[in-house]
Amino acid sequence: MSIFSQRLSRIQPSPTIAITSKAKKLKQEGKQIIDFSAGEPDFDTPDNVKKVAIEAINNGQTKYTPVNGTKELIESIIKKFKRENDLVFEPDEITVGCGGKQVIFNALLATIEKGDEIIIPAPFWVSYPDMALLVDGQPVVLDCSLDNNFKINPQDLENKITNKTKWIILNSPSNPTGAFYTEMELQNLAKILLKHPHVWIMCDDLYEHIIFDNLKFKNILQVDNKLRSRTFVVNGVSKAYAMTGWRVGYGAGPKELIKEISKIQSQSTTHTSSISQAAAIEALDNSEEFIKKNKKIFQERRDLIYSKLKDFPLLQVFLPQGSFYTYICCNDIIGKKKEDGTEITNDLDLSDYLLDEGVAVVPGEAFGCTNFLRISFATSNENIIEGCDKIISACKKLK
Ligand code: PLP
Repeated sequence: MSIFSQRLSRIQPSPTIAITSKAKKLKQEGKQIIDFSAGEPDFDTPDNVKKVAIEAINNGQTKYTPVNGTKELIESIIKKFKRENDLVFEPDEITVGCGGKQVIFNALLATIEKGDEIIIPAPFWVSYPDMALLVDGQPVVLDCSLDNNFKINPQDLENKITNKTKWIILNSPSNPTGAFYTEMELQNLAKILLKHPHVWIMCDDLYEHIIFDNLKFKNILQVDNKLRSRTFVVNGVSKAYAMTGWRVGYGAGPKELIKEISKIQSQSTTHTSSISQAAAIEALDNSEEFIKKNKKIFQERRDLIYSKLKDFPLLQVFLPQGSFYTYICCNDIIGKKKEDGTEITNDLDLSDYLLDEGVAVVPGEAFGCTNFLRISFATSNENIIEGCDKIISACKKLK
């Protein structure tokens, strides 16, 4: 009998592992690889944030903190929600965890009974379905096609709701597509959700600050406060403030949920690092300029990558309105053959081939939507230009 739990057998190793290990190996061998696979900003954490963290160490902020986060950080989070989202939360409606990832995991662990369904719009962030499976839930994938700009059709959402549905996860702007929901689109989803009061809404707002074209961010709670008693808003400092390694994420929602999450956290991680919590306060309170500057840089890169690839007939490029990813349809390449006669049968084969040609991308399969590639533009303009040229010439060689 295996020592390992049954629960783990439900989770597959990521299909991207083969690609990332190969990319690593090729780099170690000295091969020049343009890396379009990054899931984090390529900027460093702002200096003011680093300074506050060093001061926190020197001031002895090195002990356990309250499970749900320090009083000061919770105050900063409350101020952030008021200032940026016009949402008012009380301290007992906030939890802080080791990244948005742990906050989402805790919320699912706190609420899911065996067989409960979690509606996950696809393409999705890779971790949602596996987290759902780990807590004995049933991921229910809701396909969002390129024709609908990778967004949920409200009628499709309604069709997926059953009496077992516990959560719907909304992620705008989205990883991996960069799709962004307008206020009107959120209103249309809210109308459906109001008819189904047993369904909770998880708003993953991690990419809130990376949006383009002067769009104004709103989440579903800002659009319809009647959902308040069953909405959990998740955010964090990873993407907005280039702080992925600091591991600070937070969630805001009904205090009964926060209380249960707190129980889980108190018996697992206890809390995230006291130093990181101090740093997160500075990020939330004093880094508006950093956000503005990076938003502009990401928009320029988005425009550059789009202009490089949009006229290449074999790839269909989606113009992201947020995040630092673009999701590209490669259907027209499937079935073509490499110079050695082997066929490109899917996006995994294509990603593997592109890696041989010097570019690392993530196959779309990982995000629940095949024959796409996710290209991250969290890299320099020079890399974007060289990487796109390499992709185009590699694709042209296929017969
Ligand atoms: N949500 C989305 C959509 C993400 O892409 C990520 C990270 O890649 C996260 C949540 C979690 O981020 P973190 O745990 O670093 O806060």
